Amino acid sequence: MTTDELLARHRAVLPSWMPLYYAEPIEIVSGSGRRVTDAQGRSYLDFFGGVLTNMIGYDVAEVREAVQRQLGTGVVHTSTLYLIRQQVELAEKVAALSGIPDARVFFTNSGTEANEAALLVATNYRRSHQILAVRNSYHGRSYAAMGITGHRSWSASALNPLQVSWLHSGDRLRGLLSRLRPDEYVDAAVDDLREVLATQTAGDVACLIAEPIQGVGGFVAPPDGLFGAFKKVLDESGILLISDEVQTGWGRTGDHFWGYQAHDVTPDLLTFAKGIGNGFALAGVVGRAEVLNEVHATSFSTFGGNPISTAAGNAVLDYLLEHDLQANAARVGGVLLAGLREVAARHGIVGEVRGRGLMIGVEFVRPGGTEPDPVATARVFEECKRGGLLVGKGGLYGNVLRMGPPLTVTEEEAAEALDILTGAVAAAESGG
Ligand code: PLP
Repeated sequence: MTTDELLARHRAVLPSWMPLYYAEPIEIVSGSGRRVTDAQGRSYLDFFGGVLTNMIGYDVAEVREAVQRQLGTGVVHTSTLYLIRQQVELAEKVAALSGIPDARVFFTNSGTEANEAALLVATNYRRSHQILAVRNSYHGRSYAAMGITGHRSWSASALNPLQVSWLHSGDRLRGLLSRLRPDEYVDAAVDDLREVLATQTAGDVACLIAEPIQGVGGFVAPPDGLFGAFKKVLDESGILLISDEVQTGWGRTGDHFWGYQAHDVTPDLLTFAKGIGNGFALAGVVGRAEVLNEVHATSFSTFGGNPISTAAGNAVLDYLLEHDLQANAARVGGVLLAGLREVAARHGIVGEVRGRGLMIGVEFVRPGGTEPDPVATARVFEECKRGGLLVGKGGLYGNVLRMGPPLTVTEEEAAEALDILTGAVAAAESGG
């Protein structure tokens, strides 16, 4: 079957609202390190790591062997009604790393389900279904997760099952508070939170859910300390904080192991997914026992925490810690960020370069202002692919390119990616 035939069959049988990247979508058939190969034999440097799903590179022997060992037992999975050794071992490691005291862990298969579980826990614990969420956020594709997503093209807010009030995101390029200094921004956003609590809620709010750096929203990094400042207000009425670390966890942001650590706060609940499985479906929620145990019904997941995905998760986490990939994220991320800022200085269509560690966003605008330019963005995106570089796209206006390579990426690969991107920006700017 050719790639064109596969595409026609994909379009005939999968829903129309499932996006595919590129004017000519690609089929990836193999991978090694930070490189993948498509069905035509073209090789690409993967600077989106799937969608931050590939955290330690492709075809890592330690992960392959751990999964093969489990497959060799003949048991892919029976049920989480029986004891699963590697699930318990991974839960112990995640609980210890979470920074949350007396932590419990519940495994799911996706970030969406992890956020669903966190919402279930928070609303049960607080006996309230009022939620605070953040503008421009993304939390998943289920009914409730779309209800707390503040991004028009991904949200089901018109049909929202929850009562949600929206807070400022920390976007420093556009929006009501964007002209303020970081400390002024935090003060103004906290004032706004107090006003929202007083005017839009009955006071008995369950939780605030927030991404420490927004992912789908275009890698928007709020001022440090924003969520810690919010939490001080929330603590006055016992409102919980859920940190959605689906994109920001495991050292990706370089300076910190979790995104929440930039905010001088410890969340009550933390959700994780994507990178920890390095491609295997593995996600979950961590929280204080007092909170996480408080679900007024029996609840379990048939597949969440199954032996294959948790065998992979243990191997991924051990590899990540043994190779200190957080330090590599800080080092290579710094090189990438500096290089991209030079590109921004030379090209007016680059409105902002931002991010932390290996989570870097490049926002494209009409030169001289902040008007989003999704057309130039799409050109750069396609040019990068032509040059052999895969990156992500995002942002409220589809005008942000996102870089989130595996945390094993090298400085040489960062230099190669910068070369390709620089050429792509120049081509797009000249109308190519
Ligand atoms: N939360 C965040 C911050 C995400 O970026 C995503 C996915 O992109 C999700 C939740 C949903 O995760 P999943 O696609 O695994 O359901």
